[in-house]
Amino acid sequence: MRHPELLPAFCVAFAIELAHLRWILLTQWRCRGCGDSHLKCECKPAWVKLLL
Ligand SMILES: [Zn+2]
Repeated sequence: MRHPELLPAFCVAFAIELAHLRWILLTQWRCRGCGDSHLKCECKPAWVKLLL
């Protein structure tokens, strides 16, 4: 790779974007069961719990 110094920066940007998407998922999406956000929901599916 010609620019190895860019790799850490890319990894940091990727991690930040993942955290951002996770935050949107938890705060903006509404549960179909109880209508609450996934952050407060008690009946969320197992794959959502794995993200917490
Ligand atoms: Zn729910």
